[in-house]
Amino acid sequence: MKSSRRTFLKAGTAAAALSAAPLSAQPLLRSPASALMPKSGKRRVVIAGGGWGGLTTARHLRAQAPDLEVVLLERNPVFWSCPLSNKWLIDVVDTQFLVHSYMAPAKRYGYTFVQTEISDIDRSARRVHTAQGYIDYDWLVVSTGIRYAFESWFGNDRKAIDYTRETYPTAYIPSAEHAVVKQKIHNFKGGTFVMTLPPPPHRCPPSPYERACLMAWHFKTNKIPAKIIILDPKPMVAPITAGYNEAFRELYPDIITHVPKALIKEVDPFNKVVKTAAGDFKFDDALLMSPHQAGDLVWKAGLIGKTPDGKPTGWAGVDPFFYNTKDDPQVFVIGDSLGAVSPHFGHYPKAGHVANKQGRAVAQYIAQQAKDRQPKHVMIDNLCYMLVNNTPREAISVQFDYGIGEDGHLWQKQIDDGQRRPELWEEDLKWVDHMFGDFLAS
Ligand SMILES: Cc1cc2nc3c(=O)[nH]c(=O)nc-3n(C[C@H](O)[C@H](O)[C@H](O)COP(=O)(O)OP(=O)(O)OC[C@H]3O[C@@H](n4cnc5c(N)ncnc54)[C@H](O)[C@@H]3O)c2cc1C
Repeated sequence: MKSSRRTFLKAGTAAAALSAAPLSAQPLLRSPASALMPKSGKRRVVIAGGGWGGLTTARHLRAQAPDLEVVLLERNPVFWSCPLSNKWLIDVVDTQFLVHSYMAPAKRYGYTFVQTEISDIDRSARRVHTAQGYIDYDWLVVSTGIRYAFESWFGNDRKAIDYTRETYPTAYIPSAEHAVVKQKIHNFKGGTFVMTLPPPPHRCPPSPYERACLMAWHFKTNKIPAKIIILDPKPMVAPITAGYNEAFRELYPDIITHVPKALIKEVDPFNKVVKTAAGDFKFDDALLMSPHQAGDLVWKAGLIGKTPDGKPTGWAGVDPFFYNTKDDPQVFVIGDSLGAVSPHFGHYPKAGHVANKQGRAVAQYIAQQAKDRQPKHVMIDNLCYMLVNNTPREAISVQFDYGIGEDGHLWQKQIDDGQRRPELWEEDLKWVDHMFGDFLAS
C-alpha cells in the first residue's frame, strides 16, 4: 500500500479507469422497463451508490445479516477514492493507490455489484429504476454523495454551468474530473490561480486548503511563478486553523493568499473574473467550486429535508441517530448527503471516515430489523489527516468525537492537531490502509 512501491501512471489513466468498464462489470443488456434481476426468494437490500458509505454497508451487511440479499448499484466501473486524491494531484501516490475493483469485494464478501446509472427511486412502490431495468427492495440505503449546485451562481444558464464545470472543474465527485485538475496543475505556466470554496456545509472541509498547500509546493519546487488565491466565504480558515495558517505563512508565504469573508457575488467564467464581498479577482486559471448539496437521487426520492418555513435544506432529512427517513424505517441515507444531525453543531463533517462509520452502523440497524429487534444506536467518530508539505512529507490532522448530551442531542468535540510533522503522514497511510481493508478487497 506504500506509495513508494507503486509505479506512477499518467493522469490520463484516471480518466480511462473511470470510463472503461472491466468485462465482468459491463452493463446488462436489459430494457429499463424490465426487471434488473429476478427475485431470489430472500429479502433484499438495495444500496444506491458504491462510494465510501455504500461499499462499507454492503460488506458489513453480508457479515451481519447473511440471510439477506445485498445488491450494490453504482454508475462507475471502478472505485475511485477522493480521500488521498489531493496527494495524487502532485504524484505523492499513484493511480493504482486510488483506483480499485468493484467486482473483487463483491465476490469476496458475497454481494451483487451492478454497474448502472440509477435514474429514479419510487419509494411508494419500493422500487429503484436504473438504465438496465428496475429492482425492488425491502430495505434501501442511499449513499450517493453530493451534487454541485451551480444554479446558485448561474440560475438556469446551462452554457455557463457546462462551461464552468468543463473548464474549471474541482474533482470533488469521483469522476474523470480528477485527471483534468491534475493536468491543469501540471500545465500551469504561471500567473494567478484562484480557488473558490463553497459555504459550509460542503464535502471534506479541510481538503481545499490541503490542495492549495500541495499545489503551492508543486509550483515552488518547479519554480513556476504562481500565486494561489483562496476565496473563502468563512471568516477564517477552518478546521485546523492554526496548522493551516502556519503552513501558508511559513512554507508558502509568496504563493498562497487566503481571503476570508469572500462570499461569491458573481462568477464570470468566460471573462475569468470572480466578484466577492471581499473584492473582485481576475484569474489565469481556477478551480471554481460551487456550493454543494445532497446528490440528485436524494432529491428525486423526495428525501430532502425542509427548513421550519418549508424550504428545501439541500440535504437529506433523516433521523439523526439511525439515518432512516421519518416515514419509512427501512429507507436510510448515509454519507455526505446527510442533513443536520444536531442543533449544537449542525452537520457531521462530510468525510469518508464518517460515511464508513455510518455504513457499519446501518448494516447493524438493518440486521437487527431483519431479526425483528429494535436497533441500538451506534456512536460514530471522525479523523482526518491533511498533507501540507511534500519535502519533507508533513501532515496535520483533526479529530471529532461525539456523544449524547442530557438534552438528548448529539454534541461534538473537535481536536485540531496543527503541529505539522512526518508522523502524521505515516498515520494517514495507516488510516487509509485500514479503511480500504474494511470495505475493499485489496
Ligand atoms: C479532495 C478530497 C479529499 C478528501 N479527503 C478525505 C480524507 O482525507 N478523509 C476523509 O475521511 N474524507 C475525505 N474526503 C471526503 C470523502 O471523499 C467523502 O466524504 C466520501 O466519499 C463520502 O462518501 P459517500 O458514500 O457519501 O459518497 P461517495 O464516496 O462520493 O459515493 C457516492 C457514489 O454514488 C455514486 N452515484 C451517485 N449518483 C449515482 C447514480 N445516479 N447512479 C449510480 N451511482 C451513483 C457515485 O458514482 C459515487 O461512487 C475527501 C474528499 C475530497 C473531494
